Parts: sequence; structure tokens; C-alpha cells
Amino acid sequence: MSTATRSPIDELTLGQGARLDELVDRESLASLTRSFSDVGGVGLRVFGADGRLLADASPPLELVSYLMTFRGARNALEKVVASVKSLDPEDGQQAVESCVSGGLYRVMVIEHDARRVGKVVLGPYYPPSLRDIPTLLLELEPALDLDRARSLLTVAPRVTDESVERLGRHLSATLEVLMFSGLKALLTRSMHLASVRESFRELEEKQQKLQTAYDRLKELDRLKSNFLATVSHELRTPLTSIIGYSEMLLEGIAGDIVGDQREFVTTIREKGEQLLGLIKGLLDLSKLESGTMSLRRAPMQVPALVRDVAQTMTPHAKKKGLTIETQVEAPLPELFADAERLRQVLLNLVENAVKFTPTGGTVRVSARMNHIEFGSSEGEGAVLMRAKRPVVEFRVADTGIGIPEVERTKIFDAFYQVDSSSTREQGGTGLGLSIVKRLVESHDGRIHVEANEPTGAVFVVAIPVRRASFSS
Ligand code: ADP
Repeated sequence: MSTATRSPIDELTLGQGARLDELVDRESLASLTRSFSDVGGVGLRVFGADGRLLADASPPLELVSYLMTFRGARNALEKVVASVKSLDPEDGQQAVESCVSGGLYRVMVIEHDARRVGKVVLGPYYPPSLRDIPTLLLELEPALDLDRARSLLTVAPRVTDESVERLGRHLSATLEVLMFSGLKALLTRSMHLASVRESFRELEEKQQKLQTAYDRLKELDRLKSNFLATVSHELRTPLTSIIGYSEMLLEGIAGDIVGDQREFVTTIREKGEQLLGLIKGLLDLSKLESGTMSLRRAPMQVPALVRDVAQTMTPHAKKKGLTIETQVEAPLPELFADAERLRQVLLNLVENAVKFTPTGGTVRVSARMNHIEFGSSEGEGAVLMRAKRPVVEFRVADTGIGIPEVERTKIFDAFYQVDSSSTREQGGTGLGLSIVKRLVESHDGRIHVEANEPTGAVFVVAIPVRRASFSS
């Protein structure tokens, strides 16, 4: 079985199928073969169970090279090599084959876990008892230069048969140890691989489930937005009539109104307007959520906007005994923005500031130039990518009850109120800030809250300046 087609389960049971070169890496096998060959003074080759040569430490023998130049001797030597390769000794035994040159080959089987995983061939080596070139060789090759062959025999490896047999046994024992630790490493690796694969599969499954849940939530969110848009739209028409008719009643178009009637009709109109405000908010929110709100961007002046917002809110603030201050740090570039929507943002913030500040307090609306970092979003790790961009920074600061730190991001969620219990002193729906945030973001801006010293909240709105406006 090839490695490529193994399943993780097969990999866990490799003890039964591992090849020699899987159990002992090729490099270790090569250096082991080399050092045994050096120590024993005999050539060594290791073959896999499939006959592939895995390691070779057999320096060329001059005698053999010389004999190979004669056709008859070469044929005889090649026959010997083929028969050595086909030798298959019994388990734990060694087989010996003699060569026409007078040398010997010793073959030994390598076993692992009662399985043949390879073969070792030692030789050719020449026992010291061999005195002369075999006569068989002379018969085979009469043209042989006997003196030369004899002198080459004297430099050939002279090792006793017993030494080579012992060398083989040592090599076999060493390989056994190596294969055992190799098997351990292989199993550990396979188990690790299998567990990584399993974790990956589980992660994939979880990711799939999350994706399904996310798609479903997105669909629900879309349905909710559609529902809000439709209902708000349908409520607005009759409500406009209610407000219109109550105004006509108050103007006496349908005759004089007497006694408590004026007070009751006034309440109807006021509550109707409150409801209309809420419905408009819901419509805005659903348009912002679905991305269908279109901004009417145009060049606009910041000081005029700040002045206008302060003037609009001053009567309301005075009624509560509050002061509204403004501060604009010139020079300020013009903004390319939807003036009406930015006015809505600031009015909403000032309205909140007035609402949450007790009598005697101050609300300050200010604007100045600043440079802030714009990461694409929190935690994306793109710190190096962040560049500072010029912005006009609006601040609405009050001296009111302030907003605890843990609430400072939550207040931008739709319908969220810091103290949402029914005993809340202040009215409201919790929609205002979520609309404000989305309007700011649709201008590519940012909004956040800080604490005011010694008390109160500061809402900071940053609207990017177009480069062209900045240089003007
Ligand atoms: P609403 O004012 O209608 O409740 P908002 O979305 O405008 O809804 O505000 C959400 C909540 O944030 C408010 O209910 C209030 O608890 C808190 N909040 C907003 N502005 C201020 C402020 N200036 N000071 C203290 N709390 C504030």
C-alpha cells in the first residue's frame, strides 16, 4: 500500500505495514551502513522488501573492475550478483554465495514485527585462507594477466567469514533498535496527524453550523427590517390625520372648544407627534439597516451648523434652566456631507444632553480639526496599515448624570437604555443613538463617548474631511 492512499486509520495501524525506509529514515540508514562497512572492512548494501536499493556502502573493488573488462568473467560476475539478489535465507539465518573471483557474499534478512522488511548484502570479501586466484577463473578467461590479478587480490578486503557473520548480526540488532524507535515516532506522528484531522473536521462542522445560524439570523433581521418599514409606513398615514384633525380642533375650525376639551385635544396632538417621531425613527433605522437611505452630500459650513443646532435647542434648554455654549476652533475646512442628517445627529445628542442634565447645568457644543486613526475595524491587527486622517471633530459635552464605562458601547444598540426599568425618570425609546451612530458611519465617520470632568458625558463625533476641502 502506498503512503498516498493510506487513510488516517491505516496510519494508526502502521505497525503492520510500515516499510523499512518509513521506519528508519534514509539518511540514518546510509550513515549506519557506511560506518558498519568502515568498521568491518567489507562492502554493504541494504535493500527494501520490494528489492529497491536503500543504502549502498560498497567501494569499487579494483579486482572486480579488472575482471569486468573480460566478457566471460563479466557474464559470470553478473550471474553471481543476480543469484545473490534472489537469495532468501530463512528467518534469522544468513546465506552465503561465492563468486568467480574467489570472494564471498553474505545475505541476511531484516525483520520487523515478524515481517520481512528488507535484506542486507555484505561483500564481496575474501577470506584470508584464499591463497590464489581460483583456477575456474583462469579456465574462463585464459587471457587474464595472472600477475595483475594476483596483485589486485592482495589489496582486496581480507575478512574472515566469522567476522562478517558477526558484523551482520550486529547490524541486524542495531537496525532492530532503530526500527523500534522509528515505529514509535511514526505512530506518534500518525496519531498527531489523525487528531489534527479530526479537530479540523470538527471545526469545519462547527463552522458550517455557525454559517447556517448566521444566514438564518440575517434572514430574520431582513424580515424584521421589512416588517418595521411596512408597519411604520402604514401607521404614519392615519397618525398624520390624527395630528391634523386635532390641530384643526385647537384652531376652532369645527367650532369653539370649551373647558377641559382644549387640554385633552392638546394632549392628543402632543402624543400623536411623539408617536410620529418614533415612527420616523423606526423608518430611518430600517432604511439605514437595509442600506437604502441615500445621503444628499454637498459642501457645508461647520460653524453655521453648530450655531443653528445651539439656537434650535436653546429655548428647550432654558425651560430646564440649562445653558448652551458653543465653541468653534477656526479655521475649519468645509465638510462634504448631508447637512440635514448631520444636524439631526447633533440635535439628537444635544437633546439627550439636555434630557440627562439637571437644572443649572451646561451643555457645550464644539467643533475643531483633528487627525485620527482609521482602522478598518477593531482587532483586525492591521496596525501598520492604519493612517491618520483629518476629521472635523464635534463634541457635545454635558454636566449631567454621565454614562458608566460598561454602558458606553451598548447605548448605541437599538432600544438600549442605561436604566431600562419602567421607573425611569426620563422618557425615550432608546432608538436615537443607534440612528445617530449609523448616520455618522454612513458619512464614514466614528462616534464614541467619554466621561466629562467632574461629571457628565461627552459624545465625540468625527467626520472625515475630503482632501480637496482640507487644502482649500
Ligand atoms: P433615548 O434617549 O430615547 O432613551 P438614546 O438612544 O438617545 O435613547 O439613548 C440611549 C440611552 O443612552 C439613554 O436612554 C440614556 O440612558 C443614555 N444616554 C444618552 N445620552 C446620554 C447623556 N448625555 N447622558 C447620560 N446618559 C445618556
